[in-house]
Amino acid sequence: MKRFDIVVGDITRSDAEAIVNAANTTLLGGSGVDGAIHRAAGPLLLEECRTLGGCETGKAKLTKGYDLPAKYVIHTPGPIWQGGGEGEPALLASCYRSCLSLAAANGIASVDFSSISTGVYGYPLPQAATVALRAIMSWLSEHELPRQVRMVCHSEATAAVYRQAWNLWYAEEKDDRL
Ligand code: ADP
Repeated sequence: MKRFDIVVGDITRSDAEAIVNAANTTLLGGSGVDGAIHRAAGPLLLEECRTLGGCETGKAKLTKGYDLPAKYVIHTPGPIWQGGGEGEPALLASCYRSCLSLAAANGIASVDFSSISTGVYGYPLPQAATVALRAIMSWLSEHELPRQVRMVCHSEATAAVYRQAWNLWYAEEKDDRL
């Protein structure tokens, strides 16, 4: 199995050990993938989230997965896009790193990411995909855990953008080695 892959699907059905929720800073649920995860996990997820006291943008917190196939949910509030000059790229990269770091610290072997900030938070998809890919690949090159990471895209169109970002990242890596 590939260590990193880009797939199309519904993250609430993911069989990874942990799935990543594009949360908001309250951690009390919201629209988009956040709402879908809370609906599929059941009310105990919200109950645990209430005990966490929210989460800062760019950081991550871990809960159980309850009725989800995934054992854990990693919640990370992504930056709201404000034009790109408000530290959005660094905050988005920090989301991916914080999730991977939390997974590694908890011995989690497989992580499925949703596309952080690219829904209602308005982060332009090509830019977000580039930031996500660089952060994930750089983490994987330096750490053994998680052993497997996937980007779970809700549509084929989204997956195509992530694949293109992956191709660009790969081409740059090859250039560096020449
Ligand atoms: P944000 O507030 O961080 O922008 P959203 O939930 O609005 O988060 O969107 C993040 C991404 O999650 C979008 O690309 C959206 O299409 C995707 N998404 C929505 N529902 C699901 C799902 N069930 N599985 C996977 N991805 C989903």
